[in-house]
Amino acid sequence: MTGKKKNKITFSHHDLSKILACPSCHGTLSFSRNLLVCSQCKIKYPIKDGVPIMLVKESKY
Ligand SMILES: [Zn+2]
Repeated sequence: MTGKKKNKITFSHHDLSKILACPSCHGTLSFSRNLLVCSQCKIKYPIKDGVPIMLVKESKY
């Protein structure tokens, strides 16, 4: 019997917020529903299927 267990790496939102930093300003990110919000520059990153979309879009000035 080969019963290899797959070690799924699961991150809780709190873990993610510790390892993720804002790609724009490297500020602290905090979760707000399905968004990651940078506490410094206030950029919001959507979370799709549990994966934060960390793309810095050109801001509208
Ligand atoms: Zn930021």
